[in-house]
Amino acid sequence: MAKILPIIKNPSPLLRKKSEEINPEKIKTNELKELCADMVKTMKEEDGKGLAAPQIGENIRLIVINTKDGPKIMINPKITKRYWAKEWSEEGCLSVPGFYGKVKRNKKINCVYFDKKGQKTKIQAEGLLAFVIQHETDHLDGILFIDKAKEIKKIKAI
Ligand SMILES: [Zn+2]
Repeated sequence: MAKILPIIKNPSPLLRKKSEEINPEKIKTNELKELCADMVKTMKEEDGKGLAAPQIGENIRLIVINTKDGPKIMINPKITKRYWAKEWSEEGCLSVPGFYGKVKRNKKINCVYFDKKGQKTKIQAEGLLAFVIQHETDHLDGILFIDKAKEIKKIKAI
């Protein structure tokens, strides 16, 4: 059974480390499969649009994203192209609870990653999916949305 994992909150130094690539040979191990299942469950439980491994204390390049077609697991995601057009996107983060802000992101990107079966996959993402991939891959480089946001707003304490 998948577990709900505790989320690391800002200002933990764990959120500021650059995460390491996952050896593709490890993708099909039970350990990684379990971690992916736990991350998906945690993301859904916390109602996040995505979750990056450093947010649950794992210093590896793994993100999960909630899409309308179900959860997407992206291993070693790399943005290979950023189209020039940008747009402001309203963002929050499970690791920065209670805060929201506007971040300028590329509207369209190309991305390569390994899926949960170890298949190398290329996608072109636009709009919300592109913004979420950029937010989550920033986590893998130790970057939080508050580093880039303007008009950071605090909502009422929960
Ligand atoms: Zn985040």
